[in-house]
Amino acid sequence: MAESLPFSFVVSFTFLFGAVIGSFLNVCIYRLPDHESIVFPASHCRACSRVLSWYENVPLLSYLLQRGKCRTCGAHFSSRYFWVELLTAFLSIALVSRFGLTLTTVGYFLFVASLVTVTFIDLDHQIIPDVISLPGVLVGLLFSLVSSHISFWDSLAGAAIGAGVLLAVALGYTAITGREGMGGGDVKLLAMIGAFLGWRSVPFTLFAASCIGSIIGVIVMARRNANSQLALPFGPFLAFGAISYLFFGERLINWYLGMF
Ligand SMILES: [Zn+2]
Repeated sequence: MAESLPFSFVVSFTFLFGAVIGSFLNVCIYRLPDHESIVFPASHCRACSRVLSWYENVPLLSYLLQRGKCRTCGAHFSSRYFWVELLTAFLSIALVSRFGLTLTTVGYFLFVASLVTVTFIDLDHQIIPDVISLPGVLVGLLFSLVSSHISFWDSLAGAAIGAGVLLAVALGYTAITGREGMGGGDVKLLAMIGAFLGWRSVPFTLFAASCIGSIIGVIVMARRNANSQLALPFGPFLAFGAISYLFFGERLINWYLGMF
């Protein structure tokens, strides 16, 4: 299918589609944690409540043309709206170039969109909404039934191991320190990641998340003069690990095993 359409058409369409969905993800990121509807009311300025017209809702372009400000009250819109749209656009191009115009791409687009949403909600509120992760586990299992990329048993094992490993770590941490370290949200998120990517992705994702988490943790602590009780949300790092596995996991694992 992809071969019969002009390459530039596929790339432009995929980019635009990703940006439009990214715009919707922005709405989810700001409204889901407050249990607001993601459909009503229409997008409005958070400062003066004026409902935005259609040309102020064009992904990427509106932000650039209005220089990130409300036309009426001049309030600044966060540049994150723009970056989330751009990130989603690039991720959708990456998915189409990796998996083609297939059902696998559709499933992984849903997966990646959920991870983007979870990442920014966790950064803002230190929570991972169950309304994303729990249906995500189920969708991941169903996805394995229609995708040629992953078998159902691999998906089931991924969900079970994903939930089991982090649950054991969380219980162990609490038993040793008497404090609650890792949230239940991370457990459910890793179960969803395992369901979509299979059991091999679980140790990979945890390893990648811990590496990038340690590096960022050290940088943040150095800037804040070593705050010992600093708690960084783990969800964004798990999302980073999962997306790395989706695109590079098999190659990295083969390269690693090839060293022995
Ligand atoms: Zn305004």
